[in-house]
Parts: sequence; structure tokens; C-alpha cells
Amino acid sequence: MSSVTVRVPAKVNVQLSVGPLREDGYHDLVNVFHAVSIFDDVVARKSDSITVAVTGEWTDQVPVDDTNLAIQAARALAKHADVGYGADLVIHKSIPVAGGMAGGSADAAAALVACNELWGLGLPIDPLMRIAADLGSDVPFLLMGGTALGTGRGELLTELPTTGAFHWTFATADGGLSTPSVYAECDRLRAAAPSTGGAGTSGAGFSVGGFFSAEPDPGLLAALRAGDPHALGRHLSNDLQPAALSLRPGLAATLEAGRRLGALGALVSGSGPTCAFLAEDAAHAARLAQALPGRAPIRSTITAHGPTPGTTVL
Ligand code: ATP
Repeated sequence: MSSVTVRVPAKVNVQLSVGPLREDGYHDLVNVFHAVSIFDDVVARKSDSITVAVTGEWTDQVPVDDTNLAIQAARALAKHADVGYGADLVIHKSIPVAGGMAGGSADAAAALVACNELWGLGLPIDPLMRIAADLGSDVPFLLMGGTALGTGRGELLTELPTTGAFHWTFATADGGLSTPSVYAECDRLRAAAPSTGGAGTSGAGFSVGGFFSAEPDPGLLAALRAGDPHALGRHLSNDLQPAALSLRPGLAATLEAGRRLGALGALVSGSGPTCAFLAEDAAHAARLAQALPGRAPIRSTITAHGPTPGTTVL
């Protein structure tokens, strides 16, 4: 096979509960991932070395050196399989960069699947999931897709049942937010306001003594199962949102604009700064996408639906 094309979705977290900082520098998470129809396509061609190039709207913000997560994924796969093969990877990027939609992790998942095919390794999903987890806590979910509960750092996944499709409008922002800096701000806000305990900036599962007891929200799980966007809108939650708003105060106006326009729910996607608005149906999502730019300081809007499959060979 001389060329393989793979498609990978973005994600939004419909619940993101963040525990206190662990000694190893990570946070325990209860993370309900939902794959949405904003896709990066990755083309892999045989080569002597492993290289990456990027095309599309966000090209100038993506590194093409060894820090690119697609290169790291291809290298990790070659090491695991003990092969010296190369691949020229081309990423056609539509997922906002540093936007809280896991675009880099998505490209890592895509590179794993593409190189597994290109090199004829035939590795089944289990070892690919293990390599994915070593690359980053969002990477396994982007292999799997759909809607899933992630625990631990987010990498222990359980598929969640859903009915039908949910329709979304995403508002992208100029300039990204670095995920580590948003977690650091979350820790800082909690340390500065310890008396808030389980409320406010601390999130439902967080207790000041450092005990993390969050569970997936039963109302959220029921809404997903029933395919009820009104109920899902009421149960969306993101513990990183106060930190993202603290670092980027303008996002509050974006969320408020979406609510005023009748979004069923509005939240920052992951670590932000992309904002996610849940719509009643595809036509409502299109109306939100059209109306938002005049009312909030945003870069662009994208409509999408979820859940979508994970990484797929085209
Ligand atoms: P997450 O939601 O997983 O926290 P994100 O969506 O906020 O991540 P990414 O788009 O994954 O952020 O990008 C984070 C940083 O990773 C970028 O600023 C970029 O420098 C780097 N990066 C490395 N490889 C890639 C890639 N293939 N695509 C995008 N960014 C990449």
C-alpha cells in the first residue's frame, strides 16, 4: 500500500470534573467525551523517514518538527512494532488548534491508524489503545469515538449509550489556550478560595481535603441515553470553565451571547477557548452559527453533530 487516508473527529467534553492535583502532576478526572463531526484528515505515504506537513485553516499554528504529536505517534508505533519504516504524513487540519477540542491528540490517533495500515503491521485495537494512552490521555478516546466515560487521567474508557444525534455550534477564538496553563489556573483559583469547597470554582466532585469523589452525572447519562438535547443542555458541566474564563474573560460574553440566542446549553470546550453551544436540531445550530459572530468577539463558527465514529480509514 503506497498511501493511506484516515479521518479523525474532534471532541467536546459534556462533563469534565477535575480532582485535586496529584503528586505525579496529573489530576483525576471524570470526563464524558463526545466525538463531533469536525475532522482532520491525515494522509500517510511511504518514505525513508517520518515527516509531517500541515494544510488548512490552522496551518501556521501547528509545529512540523518532532513536537508534532502525529510524528510522535508514528515513532511510538514503529518502536512498539520494532520496525524502521518511515512515513510522510500530511494533516489536512479543520480542528481548531489549542482550542480545547483535542486536535493534536486527534492527529496522533490518526497517525497510529494510518501507519498501522501503511506499514502492514495489522496491530489490533488493544495495543493501539495502549500506545495511544502513553501519547496522551485524550488519544485513546479519539481512536474509539462515539460518547464515552473516561476516568483516571481520562484514558480508562467505557462506551456510553446514546440515541440519535446531538447538534452543536462551536465558536472558535483568536489565539489558543495552553491546556497545562488552564489546569494551573484551576489549581490556583481553588487554592485562593478553599472555603468554596464543592461549589463555585471547585466543581461537584472536589473536596478541600483532597478527596475526589466525582461520578458521572446521572442526569447527563440519562439525557444522552434518551437523545434529549434539552436535558443534555441542562446537565453540561466543565470544571475548567472558571479557569478558562479567568485567563480569557472575553469568553463570558461569547457564552452569554449563545444563551441569549436560545442555545440549550453553553460551555467552554475542555480547556478552551472554543465555546460549545448545544442546539435543538441542525437548523437551530445553523441559526446560532449565523447569529453569533455579530454578537460576540469570536473568530469563526462551526456547526457539527455528535456522536461520530472514531479514527476511520477512508
Ligand atoms: P486538548 O483539548 O487535548 O487539551 P487542544 O485542542 O487545546 O488540546 P491542540 O490543538 O491539541 O490543543 O494543540 C495544543 C498544542 O499542541 C498546539 O499549540 C501545538 O503547538 C501542539 N501540537 C503538536 N502537534 C499538533 C498537531 N498535530 N495539531 C495541533 N497542535 C499540535
